[in-house]
Amino acid sequence: MIRTLFKAATLALASLALSLPAVAQGFIRDAEIEAILREYTDPILEAAGLIPEDVGLYIIGDPSLNAFVAGGQRIHLHTGLIIRTETPGQLKGVIAHETGHISGAHGARRAADFARSARSGYLSIGLGIIALAAGAPELGAALIANSQQLTALSFFTHTRAQESSADQAAVTFLERTGESPAGIVEFFEEFRYQEVLSQARRFEYFRTHPLASDRIRALRQRAEETGLMDVPPSDRAVAQMEIMHAKLIGFLEPPNAVYQRYPESDKSEPARYARAISALQSVDLGKAISEIDALLEIDPENPYYHELKGQILFEFGKIEESVEPNRRAVELAPDQPLLMISYARSMIARGEEGDVEEGETLLRRSIIAEPENAFAWSELAKALDKQGRRSEAQLATAERSFHIGDVVSANSFAQRAMQGLDKGTPLMRRAQDIAAVTDVRLEENRRYYRRR
Ligand SMILES: [Zn+2]
Repeated sequence: MIRTLFKAATLALASLALSLPAVAQGFIRDAEIEAILREYTDPILEAAGLIPEDVGLYIIGDPSLNAFVAGGQRIHLHTGLIIRTETPGQLKGVIAHETGHISGAHGARRAADFARSARSGYLSIGLGIIALAAGAPELGAALIANSQQLTALSFFTHTRAQESSADQAAVTFLERTGESPAGIVEFFEEFRYQEVLSQARRFEYFRTHPLASDRIRALRQRAEETGLMDVPPSDRAVAQMEIMHAKLIGFLEPPNAVYQRYPESDKSEPARYARAISALQSVDLGKAISEIDALLEIDPENPYYHELKGQILFEFGKIEESVEPNRRAVELAPDQPLLMISYARSMIARGEEGDVEEGETLLRRSIIAEPENAFAWSELAKALDKQGRRSEAQLATAERSFHIGDVVSANSFAQRAMQGLDKGTPLMRRAQDIAAVTDVRLEENRRYYRRR
């Protein structure tokens, strides 16, 4: 286990060595939303002749409407885009268009620019953990840091020819998957008014995607040729879209906005979901529990309902009670690293006989899947510390700091870990690696140390 872990981690380090995270970006993680977006995206990637596992899908917590490809095969979607697209077809259309940029290699220049100027890691945070950031101030500060730096990078414009070619490719990919291309046409037509706004007042997406009439006309024409315009979305895709909207709105919007969209009279699953989450955010335990229990009655096998219940209980300090729903979530969705981390967090906090050890095992499994997950490293440090394994805990903290871009702290913890670790072990080598790439003498690290 350890060997594999360190192999994965060392590879991650090698790839990060040239691009230490500078500013924590507002990346958002959520097992359920990611699974849905994968289900939307993977068939499109396959239709484009790409390998889904090679294409990263990132959600950025930003209310502005935007999507872009950067850093090679990485599709970025703003939460503002997901919330504003009304149908699965619209969102799939935007994803297909961005896929067109990847398959057309339009992103090559941007990728190079991104790597050179961003120096950003892909620090990510669970949607619900945003609320928890107060419990870990230095992590919180980094997590809350905005995505301005990243946003600036999305302004590289494609040429008109590339935009048109991405449109045409999008329709082809959708056609191959048997999906209607109506969504992408609708989406661009709906936002066509943006074209008359000044550059600064436009949504970001339309600054980089000018909606010239001839472009939209060509898109519509190509879409109509498929004969698939009237194919309706599947019920499943529609339900998934509603769940994503409910979850994002519940977590990211203020309660009045949540209740405007999901009034108490609405007893649907998405409405209850949004209200449960909103109640969690506004510290109303009774309301949060009554909504989530109602959802569990409707769909007792839904891992994400159990996950949310575990989270609600944990955040309200009901640590012992939070363990069972988190355990159930992992049981129902055993391959989800993010669910494992939540379960581990509950067990480590409970600290009964065997809890910390089992939590450690789960965290190590999740870190194999996600070696850059700072939150998992942070929890692992706690688990190791509770077992009196001080040097290993310091190394885990060094990892945590490294992945949130805190070079100075990463170096300091790696140095401390090195004092207690056995020479020649993989752990020692890892500590040395982190110390080396975060060394004050390296030119690219100077500014981090100066800032102190
Ligand atoms: Zn484009």
